[in-house]
Amino acid sequence: MNPLAEDLKRDVEQDITTCGLCKKCLFLCPLPESKDIDVFTLNREVSKDQPSKEILDFAFLCMSCGQCNYSCPNYQHMVNRLIYLRSKGRIPRGLKPLLHWRGQRLGVVDRALYGLKKRLASVHPRIAPHIDKKEYRKSDLLFYFSCYAFSPSEVPWKTLAIADHLGLDYEVVAGYSSCCGWPHYLAGDFTSAEQLFKDLAALIEETGAKTVVTGCAECYRALELIKNRYGGGYTPLTTTEWVLGHMDRLNLQGSDELVTFHDACNLSRYDGKQEAPRKVVKRLFRLVEMERTGKDTLCCGAMRQNHEKEGLMELRKKRLAEAKETGATAMVTECITCYEVYKPLAEGIKVMDLVEALYDSIAKEG
Ligand code: SF4
Ligand code: SF4
Repeated sequence: MNPLAEDLKRDVEQDITTCGLCKKCLFLCPLPESKDIDVFTLNREVSKDQPSKEILDFAFLCMSCGQCNYSCPNYQHMVNRLIYLRSKGRIPRGLKPLLHWRGQRLGVVDRALYGLKKRLASVHPRIAPHIDKKEYRKSDLLFYFSCYAFSPSEVPWKTLAIADHLGLDYEVVAGYSSCCGWPHYLAGDFTSAEQLFKDLAALIEETGAKTVVTGCAECYRALELIKNRYGGGYTPLTTTEWVLGHMDRLNLQGSDELVTFHDACNLSRYDGKQEAPRKVVKRLFRLVEMERTGKDTLCCGAMRQNHEKEGLMELRKKRLAEAKETGATAMVTECITCYEVYKPLAEGIKVMDLVEALYDSIAKEG
């Protein structure tokens, strides 16, 4: 068995032996389908080679948002059970777009498709030279953009513009060849995930980076796992945390604009990172909180990609409605994935990434 799967199996089995079956974990689950799930049955199906369709369907609906972990009085990791279950099922078609053409070891079809994507993509000229580089310079500071180098947003190049403004030396890792492997891990494809984790660990080591900065909450979780599991002398930071370390050198001017902040579940709930983004937001704007905030945030569902999209759209619209109810003119995000999910759906409220807001403030100051 793959070592990642083995470790997860051990953790899951250990959890199940002490699970009190109280179902508090699913009480706050945002999925309506969770109300029909019996935890005793779920725990029993986890140990089967072929779990029931009902339980597998639920496992693939789950967004890995972590609300269940946070709600468990025994500090159990229900998400691990659901990830492990996914490894025993067939990955639904709607989930697959996140898994294609990632990594360095592509087959002929994936290589051709990725080549086509690169030709058609419009990547900012400041980012293009960094895509899928073969060699990396040694640098203490590494920006890890990987797949989001292709983001339709301006977040990647504006991040570099802030680093240039600060006069910093850095290296950049960008492109699908350096995927963090997190979508594969969550989908239960442990073979691909392990390979991608190891390849990225080797790549980071090649740069000699001491700090690895990412604006994607999923990548951040992967960087933490890679460091803990495969070693590495680097500290992973969110872009917000990195900026905070340089705030005294950025002459930021606040505005009167009232904004609200959407926490990425992978940062606020799993890692308790609620303060850093709020410190930055408050330097730029007036902040009003949504009802579900911090550890109680509502997941954007990006990792479910297009699987059962109707249900996801309902949840996303609900979140944007919560943002509008605050009276804010904008909902600020710090994870590029959340930003890309909400931006095209926003009506009557702006969706703004914190890096873009920082860049605009710096640009105003000249
Ligand atoms: S809340 Fe925790 S103890 Fe209760 S059923 Fe869920 S996993 Fe088990
Ligand atoms: S991770 Fe989120 S979506 Fe999945 S079962 Fe837990 S609360 Fe529900």
